[in-house]
Amino acid sequence: MSFAALGLNSTLLQTLNQLRYEQPTPIQAQAIPVILQGIDIMAGAQTGTGKTAAFALPIIDKLIAKPANPSDKKQLAALVLTPTRELAQQVYNNFCQYADNTQLKIEIAYGGASLTPQINRLKDGADILVATPGRLIDLMFKGVVDLAKLEFLVFDEADRMLDMGFINDIQRILKYVPEQRQTMLFSATFDQSIFSLSKSLLTEAKLIEV
Ligand code: AMP
Repeated sequence: MSFAALGLNSTLLQTLNQLRYEQPTPIQAQAIPVILQGIDIMAGAQTGTGKTAAFALPIIDKLIAKPANPSDKKQLAALVLTPTRELAQQVYNNFCQYADNTQLKIEIAYGGASLTPQINRLKDGADILVATPGRLIDLMFKGVVDLAKLEFLVFDEADRMLDMGFINDIQRILKYVPEQRQTMLFSATFDQSIFSLSKSLLTEAKLIEV
């Protein structure tokens, strides 16, 4: 199985070649074609399985295929929510690597660091934002982040987000996200609370387990 066979475009294939990714990992082989088709997914995957590329690559693929936005300000098209600052940084770094040969603007926002630099970086807009839930809410209520045009919503390590008590923040964020969107939920474990979260988030999702 090759990345080309999964249907990724040539810009990404070239980037993957530069990164020396030779073949997709099992979660990538399963998730990428489904996400490219526009289907919601709920995926069981631990860190180290290549789960970040499993959602980042098809999101980048879809965003670079879109016609350019005529207005100067970039409108946020993809949001990745993570439970911790460390995971946000890893996911952000991966997105930056994968989008290296594109014009996409990727930003990051997390708590425990001062707000002003994050506001300054976000005020001209971004295509993709990786954020922790609490800080995202602060930025939304300051009018710096607008989710009205969001097309892709990812929950990374959703089980940890629930364990850390982010459910109220998540419910709050969801009020500002369009109904029409593609949602991807990644979790290392599945229990009743994840299934009930998934019911309110996902539409006819494909379940992927590796
Ligand atoms: P993750 O599970 O997303 O944290 O990824 C674990 C590590 O595997 C990261 O350092 C990635 O850069 C790397 N990686 C992801 N997919 C591949 C692949 N298909 N081939 C080689 N390395 C990969």
